[in-house]
Amino acid sequence: MATAATDLKVFKPTDYKAEIHNDWCPGCGDFGILGALQMALAKLQIPPHRVAVISGIGCSGKTPHYMHTYAFHTLHGRVMPSVTAMKLANHELTVIGVGGDGDAYGIGAGHFVNGGRRNLDITYIVFNNDVYALTKGQASPTIQKGMKTKSMPEESIMEAINPILLGLACGYTFVARGYALDTKYLADLIARAIQHRGSALVDVLQTCPTYNDLHTKGYYAETVNGQPRLYKLDDTDYDPVVHNPDDPVEVAQKKAQALLKSQEAGGRIALGVYYQMEVPTYEDYLKKKIPGLREKPLAELDLYHRDITPNLQELM
Ligand code: SF4
Repeated sequence: MATAATDLKVFKPTDYKAEIHNDWCPGCGDFGILGALQMALAKLQIPPHRVAVISGIGCSGKTPHYMHTYAFHTLHGRVMPSVTAMKLANHELTVIGVGGDGDAYGIGAGHFVNGGRRNLDITYIVFNNDVYALTKGQASPTIQKGMKTKSMPEESIMEAINPILLGLACGYTFVARGYALDTKYLADLIARAIQHRGSALVDVLQTCPTYNDLHTKGYYAETVNGQPRLYKLDDTDYDPVVHNPDDPVEVAQKKAQALLKSQEAGGRIALGVYYQMEVPTYEDYLKKKIPGLREKPLAELDLYHRDITPNLQELM
């Protein structure tokens, strides 16, 4: 959940930008996602010192380096454990995980699953380019069966993971898809994900011109059957919101609707929010158990700063 600005400064996207050399390839979709994230934070006016961005390994893993916020570059596939720890230590921070499709849906799949169902108030942005780009473009879990990019010796013989379906199944309470080269709309989606109280997944179709010569800017700009391949759910009458979370029928219907939309036949791909439901978060439950958390975060409680010397001595 966004924390309101506490002073009169108006934050611009450049206020979230670190002055450090960026070594992503020219034309990489990662630039669009980075820009969209900075635009989203400026739109919500969250002070940079109230934000933490955590990444795994991969080209996308460099994102926190380019952000003028708190940042942590963790191990491969371990975005969710770090995001969880950061949020539990200070639930007043806006905590954002970033990682590639291989990091999130492959190496970190177990953490991705359990991170979603915890429903912490966090946002996870997945840079989905179908390949492990940092290590020269091996097939990732999202590459479709039968596809062969220029970086692969053979076509993929395995079925692809559908990130939207996976996110729904894991219990993410906000599931969306963006496109890296539509930065303005992506910024809007990321802002909505951050504002959502609960675990938010934004899977972003990301072009990798160096290793993926199939899902290119041209591919996404194509028309199929006379209609644009990419279109926005916001331009249709699609309603992703569960209006009554206590109604299991409505919850099931909204999940089924998202499930069908994520498997649209004919090659068209919907951008936007597929599913959204607001229910109590993990932090809400913790605040009931630990009353002090209602006043301030764990990191500021005496409980957290207690002298653990006697406990250590017991172990010696
Ligand atoms: Fe971007 Fe691909 Fe280059 Fe990595 S290898 S920086 S994903 S274009």
